[in-house]
Amino acid sequence: MASDTPAGKRVLISGASVAGPALAYWLNRYGFHVTVVERAPGLRPGGQAIDVRGTAIEAAARMGVLDELREHATDLRGMSVLDADGNETYSTTEATASGGRLDRDDVEILRDDLARILVGAGGSGVEYLFDDSIAALDERPEEIRVRFAGGRERAFDIVVGADGVHSHTRSLVFGPEERHLRPLAGHLGVWTAPNVLDLDRWQLAYLTGDPDASGCLAMSVRKNAELRVYVGLGGVDRTDRELRDPQAQKRLIAERYAHVGWEMPRLLEYMWEAPDFHFDGGAQVHLDAWSSGRVVLLGDAGYCGSPSSGQGTSMALVGAYVLAGELKAADGDHRAAFTAYERELRDWVTANQALAHRSAGSGEYGTAQEAAEAPKDASEVLNLSDDYYAVTDGFALRDY
Ligand SMILES: Cc1cc2nc3c(=O)[nH]c(=O)nc-3n(C[C@H](O)[C@H](O)[C@H](O)COP(=O)(O)OP(=O)(O)OC[C@H]3O[C@@H](n4cnc5c(N)ncnc54)[C@H](O)[C@@H]3O)c2cc1C
Repeated sequence: MASDTPAGKRVLISGASVAGPALAYWLNRYGFHVTVVERAPGLRPGGQAIDVRGTAIEAAARMGVLDELREHATDLRGMSVLDADGNETYSTTEATASGGRLDRDDVEILRDDLARILVGAGGSGVEYLFDDSIAALDERPEEIRVRFAGGRERAFDIVVGADGVHSHTRSLVFGPEERHLRPLAGHLGVWTAPNVLDLDRWQLAYLTGDPDASGCLAMSVRKNAELRVYVGLGGVDRTDRELRDPQAQKRLIAERYAHVGWEMPRLLEYMWEAPDFHFDGGAQVHLDAWSSGRVVLLGDAGYCGSPSSGQGTSMALVGAYVLAGELKAADGDHRAAFTAYERELRDWVTANQALAHRSAGSGEYGTAQEAAEAPKDASEVLNLSDDYYAVTDGFALRDY
């Protein structure tokens, strides 16, 4: 297992979405030898529009990708709220439910576009292994040996779990998911459809008033060519193992929304064939420590805030900047770097996770109560509060 790479600098990252490629970019720039393993056969399509906000804007600028992010921003003009009969009860050009205030520098972008841009920024110096994953870890005093599901074995100095809210790396090292996952109310289904609603850079929040099938958020993206459709579900049994199967998830959504009018029947038709269908229950990840030995967690794997925080992507980008910076500062001494990474970031992460619990402006377009009452002004359903942005903007990036 000899290697030409300087001691302490062989890094394996599990997960190629947001956190993984962002970390790969920085570590490659700092002279580490970086391998990223991704379970999917290529970069995964899909996911909702996600937000690069506050301090994460500065992190993206330091990576040199901010202009490209802006080119691919969803660029919405505003949104309308519709009642159960499909009548507009409210409309604004100040904000959207998914992206927050439109007068800010924040960038709302599709997750798959962001991942592609981050991977591109890393350049050819980063090694990507698709269609594979970590099967076993064997930590030794001098290195950590990794057996991949595909059969090969390699040695690294550091392993980073950037493999999302259901992180396999976390399960291997920190124990079963139940110990660290804190479920939040509600499930969300997301898929792509053609722009059959003829929306022009616009978002619709259709609220049914039924907590079990609370409604739909639809927005035009990719220059109005596509819609991203999200539906909310309440009271889903998280212990139901059948619901791990995407077909079962689609059946559940179809059943729950069978009685719902408006444009739902048309939008549901596209769900069945959607290549990027995504379904998950709201949840946060909380751990007492983000590292153990040579293994460290980053992004949703370590501190998922849930979609209702609106900050998962921004925490991943800022976390990647800080972790890479601390590894550089410690010259590859993983113990010192992991301690400094957590010391630097934990308070901000805790404050961001708390954002998911605020009552209004959940970013998810509707608690049952919000759905039942027509909003009186934008701040009741949208991320408009100054307190919210004080947190998202409230972390100063150090220079490394
Ligand atoms: C397909 C998809 C759809 C999403 N949709 C939404 C959404 O609608 N709303 C929302 O708020 N957030 C969504 N997210 C989560 C959002 O991307 C994150 O909250 C945020 O961007 C932080 O990113 P992350 O890189 O930490 O985790 P994630 O974006 O979750 O990325 C984790 C990556 O790890 C990979 N992976 C998982 N297990 C393994 C394994 N065992 N070995 C190797 N690789 C593995 C995954 O395929 C994925 O590429 C979605 C994520 C994905 C992957």
